[in-house]
Amino acid sequence: MTHSETLFEQAQKYIPGGVNSPVRAFKGVGGSPIFFKHAEGAYLYDEDDRRYIDYVGSWGPMIVGHSNEHIKQALHTQIELGVGYGAPTAIETEMAMKVCELVPSIELVRMVNSGTEATMSAIRLARGYTGRDKIVKFEGCYHGHVDSLLVKAGSGALTLGVPNSPGIPASLAEHTITLTYNDIEGVRKTFEEIGDQVAAIIVEPVAGNMNCIPPVPGFLESLREVCDQHGTVLIFDEVMTGFRVSLGGAQGHYGITPDLTALGKVIGGGLPVGAFGGKREIMEHISPLGPVYQAGTLSGNPLAMTAGLTTLNLISETGFHDRLTAKTRTLCDGLKKAADEAGIPLTVQSAGAMFGLFFTDEPEVTRFDQVMNCDVERFKAFFQGMLKEGVYLAPSAFEAGFTSAALSDEDIEATIAAARKVMATL
Ligand code: PLP
Repeated sequence: MTHSETLFEQAQKYIPGGVNSPVRAFKGVGGSPIFFKHAEGAYLYDEDDRRYIDYVGSWGPMIVGHSNEHIKQALHTQIELGVGYGAPTAIETEMAMKVCELVPSIELVRMVNSGTEATMSAIRLARGYTGRDKIVKFEGCYHGHVDSLLVKAGSGALTLGVPNSPGIPASLAEHTITLTYNDIEGVRKTFEEIGDQVAAIIVEPVAGNMNCIPPVPGFLESLREVCDQHGTVLIFDEVMTGFRVSLGGAQGHYGITPDLTALGKVIGGGLPVGAFGGKREIMEHISPLGPVYQAGTLSGNPLAMTAGLTTLNLISETGFHDRLTAKTRTLCDGLKKAADEAGIPLTVQSAGAMFGLFFTDEPEVTRFDQVMNCDVERFKAFFQGMLKEGVYLAPSAFEAGFTSAALSDEDIEATIAAARKVMATL
């Protein structure tokens, strides 16, 4: 038995399923989850002292790599000063200024502790602002475990086969309308019928919780258009894409301005942080300025702000995202070539520093039903093969992969070489 297996056995006695977040349990790929004890740069080290090249990056935050020296130093300094006061600090304003500078659609921003809190608060604000109850989301998009949003959801909900979770009152779920991602006509038709009742559209501007699906040309534009026509709030959930698809997020990359944006992952540099922000006029409805209530004991706590702000400063370096995007493309091209050589049908898609592997013979994957028709068994075999070769991918066929600046050319070459070896066995 490996140390990881022993630890998993123990964990299951005290933690539901042995994990604190469901996809970690490896139910989507089989076998026992790996327990890690250390991470540095592009690598994770498990409890059995095996090293892995990491393409999960703690599910997105680790865009500069693990245990970055600047972040560690900044955290040490802050620990000496205290880990939280529950009162305003200068660094919260510094962080807010930085976010507003990098994402110009954000004029006011409120810090929270997770992506879930960010989307939940953004939805409440949109409802409070418009006085409407209905919201529109897209099948396969995941916006955290918010009651209203766990309807036809992606990510772990999809991996575990519970896109509509029990425990959510039907009277609440009925306000959530789910449409098909990238279906422009579907959106227009729905809005012709009930547009004036819809408080918000919430969308992942690149879908990263049903693998990785960029928006088709015109899709995000059409969302902006119908929202303008019907007084609906457009919320971009950039928890995953923010600071990753480009420095200005997916909205910067595609040139579409949402009314509100939810952020998470990179903004915390590995500590628990989320944020939501947007148009001043809407954000002024949040307490204490306005009547829409929102609060948090640990929100904006100085340790989390320090890790996040240091990360945002590091990634603001000129050329950071160009280099990372180029690395990601090299990886994707190499994986595609390895599959072609082995005669395995594979489609690889990417947006900035996120990517997706689809075991399918469809040349492009733009829709949820195409994702569901991919060869999940083949993905599982690929995942397990790569794990044996020391490459850690997300343990689900429905999650995007993430690259980090710590990956060297050699790491990428080694990953492609591993894929070549594994593809030959599929
Ligand atoms: N929104 C998106 C697009 C996400 O990918 C996630 C998490 O993966 C969330 C929201 C929820 O964030 P958190 O897990 O920090 O609550």
